[in-house]
Amino acid sequence: MRIIQEEAALRHFISEQRASGVRIGFVPTMGALHPGHISLVTKSREQTGLTVCSIFINPTQFNDPEDFRQYPVSVEADIAMLEAVACDVLFLPSVREMYPEGPANMPSFAFGYLETILEGAHRPGHFKGVGQVVNRLLDLVQPDTLFLGQKDYQQCAVISELLKQTQRDNLELVICPTYREPDGLAMSSRNRRLTDPQRAVAGVIYQCLVSILTKKDHADFLVVQKECWNLLQEKGFEPEYVALANAKSLDILNRYDGMQPMVALIAARLGEVRLIDNMLLQ
Ligand code: AMP
Repeated sequence: MRIIQEEAALRHFISEQRASGVRIGFVPTMGALHPGHISLVTKSREQTGLTVCSIFINPTQFNDPEDFRQYPVSVEADIAMLEAVACDVLFLPSVREMYPEGPANMPSFAFGYLETILEGAHRPGHFKGVGQVVNRLLDLVQPDTLFLGQKDYQQCAVISELLKQTQRDNLELVICPTYREPDGLAMSSRNRRLTDPQRAVAGVIYQCLVSILTKKDHADFLVVQKECWNLLQEKGFEPEYVALANAKSLDILNRYDGMQPMVALIAARLGEVRLIDNMLLQ
């Protein structure tokens, strides 16, 4: 695997590859890789001729400085995992390489409604940072296909909107299923920060999503929402939201509606760790 840290070297390599006509797949990450990330790399290997993975812990998307400080880093192990699945390129830039003139002087995007709900409401500024870093990475990597995880459902909607705003009409977006631990906990770099007792109850978020799904044809969503909220609290979580939304527009729903595609989304804190997950109700 080729490891590239500088913009100039990446641009040079990518222009050579593009000239040879190879299709480029891209998997942006913040590192501390786990099998969920690797599933995206594998999908890109299957569907494109050259896979670029990036690892960059983007400071501008952290609304909570403590979360940024505590974000796990394991570059050596990440490199070994990427080599094991024959990833072609790891782009590993510094903050200076990504924001040579500072983030304030880079293009910035507004996502309207999407910034006001759920993650947008609970993490002010988060999606501005995401939009900015993904735009910069796409400029550098110039992929044909971008691979994202459904785990970050609202982020997928934001990035899809970014692609529209920046007229990247030829860039294909592939959203890959959420990889889970045996108890249903969505794999996440932040799971490493859970203590053993916290890890033992963390699967409750998934149980709540399953319960929202299985009750969709006969129950009142507001009652199910309350049950989930109470269960999470009983198990030691501080829930931030337990929500039902239109799966396309993310319009918030107060009742199940079989006429619309629906998605359930949960965010909850367990001690210092903030966990999110979602499930399509199909
Ligand atoms: P992150 O490093 O957390 O920013 O994630 C990088 C990419 O991996 C994003 O597109 C995530 O949605 C995706 N991802 C993270 N966790 C999972 C998972 N458990 N299953 C599938 N994709 C994931």
